[in-house]
Amino acid sequence: MIKYLLGCPSGHEFESWFRASADYDAQASAGEISCPLCGSLDISKQPMAPSIVTKTSVAPRQTNANTNAIPMQSGDAKVALEALRAIKKSIFENSEDVGTRFAEEARKIHFGEAEERHIRGTSTLEEAQSLSEEGVPFGILPALPEDLN
Ligand SMILES: [Zn+2]
Repeated sequence: MIKYLLGCPSGHEFESWFRASADYDAQASAGEISCPLCGSLDISKQPMAPSIVTKTSVAPRQTNANTNAIPMQSGDAKVALEALRAIKKSIFENSEDVGTRFAEEARKIHFGEAEERHIRGTSTLEEAQSLSEEGVPFGILPALPEDLN
């Protein structure tokens, strides 16, 4: 929510709340905002630092370009990181670490030359490219901050 101090040509001032600055723009240009004192539709924003109220929950943010002015909530990145950690943990618990033999093993499994199972490991960029060219399914896990230690 964003609060604007609005004014009409007669010098009346009033405050109004909008979901985003874009909502003010849309309503003002559609003539939906009128002065509560004289009914004038010629409303303009008065110079005032807008008050912004943001929720601290992790509800999906609107992709309205005009909400960019709202500061990024630090909680979002943390929640995303936690989700990523959980996914990685589940993969680590349910797969066999084949280390640098990853590409070789993935290929063997794909072509039925090795027992079908979940594996994890590392591969070079070249190996990853040839795997995808051969149609071997695999995923790349993004590095977490702790992996870089
Ligand atoms: Zn007025």
